[in-house]
Amino acid sequence: MSELENWQKKCDVCGEWTDGNKYVCSHCGEIMEEERLKKKAKREKQTVFDVAWVTIRPTDHLIIKAVKRVILAVQVVYFGLLSFFIWMIAMISS
Ligand SMILES: [Zn+2]
Repeated sequence: MSELENWQKKCDVCGEWTDGNKYVCSHCGEIMEEERLKKKAKREKQTVFDVAWVTIRPTDHLIIKAVKRVILAVQVVYFGLLSFFIWMIAMISS
């Protein structure tokens, strides 16, 4: 890799070479792919976390709270069993 390639990045939107240190393309103003991917990964991580654990808010309706508690209990049991199986597999294989 040459020094020029290190310094410059090709914009995936307009195809022009732009300053590698810049957050946005100096030609079309689009956010550089790397930064977009980073943002996307961050977003997906947060979404997965939100889906993984149900949050019970004090403002929730009593029925919603009850349903959420059941989902949360199922999740806890599921993750508990999952970690138990992982532990068991580790015990058997060792
Ligand atoms: Zn561009």
